[in-house]
Amino acid sequence: MRARDQLMEQNVDLDLACREAERAIHARNDFLAAMNHEMRTPMHAIIALCSLLLETKLTPEQRVKIETVLKSSNLMATLISDVLDLSRLEDNNLEVEFGMFDLHGIFKEVVNLIKLIVSVKKLSLTMILAPDLPMFAVGDEKLLMQTILSVVGNAAKFTKEGYVSIIASVAKPESLRDWQPPEFYPVSVEGHFYLRVQVKDSGCGVLPQDMPNLFTKFAHHRSGSVGNSGGAGLGLAICRRFINLMGGHIWIGSEGRDKGCTATFLVKLGIGSNPDNSAIHQASAHVRANHGSADLSGQRPLLRDHRGTPNPNARYQRSL
Ligand code: ADP
Repeated sequence: MRARDQLMEQNVDLDLACREAERAIHARNDFLAAMNHEMRTPMHAIIALCSLLLETKLTPEQRVKIETVLKSSNLMATLISDVLDLSRLEDNNLEVEFGMFDLHGIFKEVVNLIKLIVSVKKLSLTMILAPDLPMFAVGDEKLLMQTILSVVGNAAKFTKEGYVSIIASVAKPESLRDWQPPEFYPVSVEGHFYLRVQVKDSGCGVLPQDMPNLFTKFAHHRSGSVGNSGGAGLGLAICRRFINLMGGHIWIGSEGRDKGCTATFLVKLGIGSNPDNSAIHQASAHVRANHGSADLSGQRPLLRDHRGTPNPNARYQRSL
């Protein structure tokens, strides 16, 4: 009887501690979200004003100073946006929104955004869209765009010379066996496909000892010769969470230092029909984020993600 009473008391204490911990997590996330929101406005004002200043007549010394302020502000804005994404993800507050979108258009938009950076760095940029890649897909356009920009941004950031290439294709069921790593089991569902995006670069590569922590938030990498990226180490951690929400998987391969890097990810999407031919494009579905695979079955296509056009700036700025 005494043992039972003791056990019950312990259970009550544990329950209390658990609730307190949950309350603390919510309070932290609310605080982060509020702070981020409040910090974004002045941050964007600084960025906009610096950009305007750069268009005026400046001495070379002034130009360098303003460019430094702009670069730092961009980094700060990225960090703010990453922390906000992370707090939403950790709070299970991020909603995946399914809608029909122009899949080819997303890749073209990414190239438009990134070509400025690669041209400044004199890198070559190629994009290959496989002929069988559906024009339209059903899924979360914004999450997908943000993920692609983040991975491509990293490729541009960590490459001093050479190339960045983006290859998008449909992962064929017969290549399931070749998919890495073995812990991911893709499920084929009718009306859906796995989009496979491969981003290759000829940059500094990843050291074998850094590999296990690439997707760990705030982890410090670059134990080798290549120097610090200046990032907080949030981008890939967030990408992986986004991709998990989209029922996919991401992994990175590298032959080692200065041998370049290949980031590959798979996401499960519905096959969309051309909205011009389609009669149904009103309904949308909001699915609360769960950390399993995205089940798109039964989702009706929506012409456009009604959170608006993806705002890739944060991820884009990462790569500056
Ligand atoms: P960060 O903000 O630090 O760049 P990320 O999460 O985007 O954070 O990336 C984590 C780390 O993974 C980077 O610091 C870098 O060491 C490594 N990394 C990511 N992509 C590449 C790449 N294309 N080439 C070399 N290293 C990379």
